[in-house]
Amino acid sequence: MSSRRTLGLSAALAVVFASATGCARAPSPLAPQFAGSIGMPHRGILTASAELPAEGDGYKWLRQDDRHHGLPRFVKAIERAAATVARERPGAMLGVGDLSTRTGGQLLPHLSHRTGRDADLLFYLTTLDGAPVESPGFIHVGRDGLAWDEKGKRFLRFDVERTWLLVKTLVEDPEARIQWVFANRNVEALLLEWARARGESGETLVRAMDVMLEPRPGGPHDDHVHIRTACSPAELVAGCEHTGPVRPWIEALDRSARDTSPDWELVDALFRPFGTAREARATTALAPPPDHAR
Ligand SMILES: [Zn+2]
Repeated sequence: MSSRRTLGLSAALAVVFASATGCARAPSPLAPQFAGSIGMPHRGILTASAELPAEGDGYKWLRQDDRHHGLPRFVKAIERAAATVARERPGAMLGVGDLSTRTGGQLLPHLSHRTGRDADLLFYLTTLDGAPVESPGFIHVGRDGLAWDEKGKRFLRFDVERTWLLVKTLVEDPEARIQWVFANRNVEALLLEWARARGESGETLVRAMDVMLEPRPGGPHDDHVHIRTACSPAELVAGCEHTGPVRPWIEALDRSARDTSPDWELVDALFRPFGTAREARATTALAPPPDHAR
């Protein structure tokens, strides 16, 4: 077979693989290096996933199904954050909604949750007297911080203290690499007001303000937070596709890791194929708001 025919056959096979998987960067005999979170949150798949155990220190699944898979480091970060809240403010349980399926891909009704980088976390709630209760599910929190629990026929209170501790732990965790905490503006206001009153550090506040956003469209997010992790440099090489803003503190982490690597020039060339972070931010600023947050 001539080399031109071989090339033609390879190209045709690539098209077949891409259309069969629905993801141009899926692992295949032609691209065996792709693994983990492959593609973008709203258009991608997941391999080598880890499943969040059904129950752990300070958390439990909301539903018993196969929707709790993610990038292993992301799953660990969720476990760590729940355990931190349980240790520092004992007595409550974080309800965990959907992550991704074992192999990723479409997960209705979500637009994203396809690549193991998204997770829905329920709010911590208390009774009106402040006693922690297990969240009955996705219930809406109003401007006054109250939430009607239809099942229990009672009002519950948004547990701003524990929910803030959860957000704080996540944005301060370097392995979590939190790019977004999708939450509605009212929830964001309640959390930030609490954080300021507590005297949280400026850096933590800036991170929280950067990552919290009410996505449109994507649902009101007044009944849970949706967290998304950013690709790591190694994950980018393995097929993870970045979308949206680059967080300065995550960039700084990667820069310091890179500066201690002997091959940093090569690493830089591999990790920044589309220009500098500043250019990426400028591009992002022009882009429409994320429409795949749900
Ligand atoms: Zn979500």
